Amino acid sequence: MNAKDLWKAILGKAETQLSSTFYKAYFLTSYAEEVNEGELTIVCNSNYSKNQISKSYYSFIKETADTVGKKDYKIEFRVEETKKVETNVDGLPLLTILKKEKAAEPGSSEGLSPKYTFESFIVGPSNRLAHAIATAITENPGKIYNPFFLHAGVGLGKTHLIQAIGNKIVETNPQAKIVYATAETFMNELIEAIQEGRNKNYSANKFRNKFRKADVLLIDDIQFIAGRGEATQEEFFHTFNALYMAQKQIVLTSDKAPKELSKLDQRITSRFASGVVADMQKPDVVTRSAILREKRDIAKVDISNEVVDFIALNAETNIRELEGVFLQIITAARADGAEITKEYCAKVLGYALLEKPVVTINEILRAVCTYYNIKMADLKGERRIKEFVIPRQVSMYLLKNYSGTPYMAIGDLLGGRDHTTIMHGNEKIEKKIEEDLRLKQDINNLKKTLNINA
Ligand code: ADP
Ligand code: MG
Repeated sequence: MNAKDLWKAILGKAETQLSSTFYKAYFLTSYAEEVNEGELTIVCNSNYSKNQISKSYYSFIKETADTVGKKDYKIEFRVEETKKVETNVDGLPLLTILKKEKAAEPGSSEGLSPKYTFESFIVGPSNRLAHAIATAITENPGKIYNPFFLHAGVGLGKTHLIQAIGNKIVETNPQAKIVYATAETFMNELIEAIQEGRNKNYSANKFRNKFRKADVLLIDDIQFIAGRGEATQEEFFHTFNALYMAQKQIVLTSDKAPKELSKLDQRITSRFASGVVADMQKPDVVTRSAILREKRDIAKVDISNEVVDFIALNAETNIRELEGVFLQIITAARADGAEITKEYCAKVLGYALLEKPVVTINEILRAVCTYYNIKMADLKGERRIKEFVIPRQVSMYLLKNYSGTPYMAIGDLLGGRDHTTIMHGNEKIEKKIEEDLRLKQDINNLKKTLNINA
């Protein structure tokens, strides 16, 4: 299939699936050419167009091209500003030309911030269920988990997750009308509408148009509505009902569980029961560590995994504070021109590093190698013979229990092993130690060498 026909097919699909504004502005003004066999270049008429298309519709284009052309296309984008792409029009599917005048309403996504995505959301035991529900919703909005009530304490990712739902739905269905608002905004806009409505009648309609015409309504921090005046709760109830009846997706977050929202209208809380409720807890050390690694990679700062894990281990806080701590360290290090080591972090954060005497990781690894008379490379290596497996597991056990190192970091240190391997290794030794006197003696000897008294 040639590039022209491929592009026609892509246009046909874009026309039916994307917002018509977007389709007209970016797809209709572009065309495709096949540079080499299997290499499709999308030629756009401006840089802006190119950015818009390539950012949001790369996979849309690739999937369509691959399906229609039955190939695994390499897709590239380029700009050609001089050439008016009007030539394209005669190659358009008939449907487009007929319908061009009557464009569908464009989609919208009010209130969403692009930084809150699923890609940047780290999943761990503390938020796994909520995340799974959220992703399922994006695949089938309004159909399965409706309403979705998400509750968690401050700084644990409610706003991030509810916005990620909105962003994902816009991405897959740009025609959807997504409305994100905090309960406070909802309230303020309502009050404004009521006040203005005294003069001109349309304001209240504007308010209703915004909220009641949503395909997806995302209300953050619903606890603000609880305890507010009857008018606010009443309006919220009716908005909620109208959308719910029309099978539109509703997601609500709160810092309290539904039953603790005692001041919220009973009619509203009882509606929650028809949907699904999930909570998020404080992240464990492994998740904290993964979050910080992600932040580090995004910020491109030079901090070793070991130091990141040290921060994660010590900062037993919510995620917002964890980010704060991290930022504090980076800022201080920049100002001081200092290298970010554990000691430096401890100093910045005021942790008494020396009060918690821990054995260093290298001390443990060296002691194990000497004791069992094996090489460091074999301890970290892949060979699964007993002479290496036992010392390896013993070092997992010692690292876990006496160096305060999280599983994930131990995995890295021991030749890039998965953290679940480390967990099993550690558990094996913990069990074996009870029945295997020889092993118990070995570990006691090692602890003595390392000056571990516990
Ligand atoms: P909440 O709304 O519950 O108070 P936020 O969603 O504002 O919390 O989260 C606070 C900060 O922590 C934000 O910067 C957010 O991006 C980040 N954050 C929260 N959860 C995660 C996660 N699972 N992975 C990565 N970053 C997260
Ligand atoms: Mg929030």
